[in-house]
Amino acid sequence: MLSDDLIRHGEHVMTVCNACRYCEGYCAVFPAMENRLTFLKGDLTYLANLCHNCGECLYACPYGPPHEFAINVPRTLAEIRLGSYEEYCWPGPLSRAFRRHQLLTGLALALGAVGLLFASTLLAGPERLSIARSGGDFYRVVPHDVMVAVFGGVSAFVLAALLTGLVRFWRDAGERIASPMPRLALTRALGDVVTLKYLHANGVDCTSAEELRSPWRRWFHHLTFYGFMLCFASTSVAALYHVGFGWQAPYAYSSLPVVLGTAGGLGLLAGPAGLFFLRRTRDEAILDPAQGGLDAAFIILLLLTSLTGLGLLALRDRAAMPALLLVHLGIVLALFLTLPYGKFVHGMYRTAALVKYASESITTEDTGEPTEDRARLRTKKNP
Ligand code: SF4
Ligand code: SF4
Repeated sequence: MLSDDLIRHGEHVMTVCNACRYCEGYCAVFPAMENRLTFLKGDLTYLANLCHNCGECLYACPYGPPHEFAINVPRTLAEIRLGSYEEYCWPGPLSRAFRRHQLLTGLALALGAVGLLFASTLLAGPERLSIARSGGDFYRVVPHDVMVAVFGGVSAFVLAALLTGLVRFWRDAGERIASPMPRLALTRALGDVVTLKYLHANGVDCTSAEELRSPWRRWFHHLTFYGFMLCFASTSVAALYHVGFGWQAPYAYSSLPVVLGTAGGLGLLAGPAGLFFLRRTRDEAILDPAQGGLDAAFIILLLLTSLTGLGLLALRDRAAMPALLLVHLGIVLALFLTLPYGKFVHGMYRTAALVKYASESITTEDTGEPTEDRARLRTKKNP
């Protein structure tokens, strides 16, 4: 949780930076900070989720350790970021999952879900695990209605948990749910998200350690993000085929759901694997050690999901298909269940922070008319 000490420390760091302002060209954090004179909890969680932990400001800072001020913006904001995940988590008691045994918990959940799926399939009829009966058709192993009921129920809970967290973050940042964001802010923020603008701000590759500048962190983030979106698109198209057109799986290798799923699966193999190995090369000084397990759990579950998904596609006509299907579904269930309590929330809060930042950055020159709400915010923060 966000302790008083951490809030006080964040306030101290931001106050020093606000007086200095040397780093204002590096990322969105500093211009957003300059719009404020005071740094309450909601301001700090907003700024923390704008930071993408590149380290530029630490390497440029004359007040960084060993200076007595010991200003370390990336580490401080990383700690507040983790605190924000816990602070806005729903249901609250599950916020412990952000710090405890993340990888072990994820793997245990996956193992439990796989075991449960095997047990219920055996109870429903052991012949379901035989390829002769399944004929490459997933729904002969796990009926379509069962899949919809299980994944629909889990998805509804996950969606409720994620949306509750998002609403809490948004309100704490001083925004109102009922006030729609200007369209310009939404399109700008969307552009920033899909291009990962701040991972290569100013056209120069991002740092991941002192004297180490490379495009890899951005590319692996891109592969992970677009891989995830392609897999989501594949599932949505398959659902449309089934429900809308009555076209039953299995679909041909050249069909849209399979092509999207394969491309997404490859992205989800390369992206998370790259991020996993890249993390080892990153400067420990800018990282929050408490988040190592969080990153590893999400990355490993994504890797296992894509590995088993691609394996299932390659072996869908073989005898191993029914067992592989149950393993894959169990891992996907574990991934889904851990989404609101793991690194996935980073993407959600960061996107919301970028929308807020874009809305605060709109000027009268952009719109040709006064931006009343934003002007009010600035007046409130900078009387
Ligand atoms: S990180 Fe250091 S150099 Fe950059 S604005 Fe803050 S105090 Fe100034
Ligand atoms: S670490 Fe990078 S993204 Fe975070 S505040 Fe510093 S310069 Fe900005």
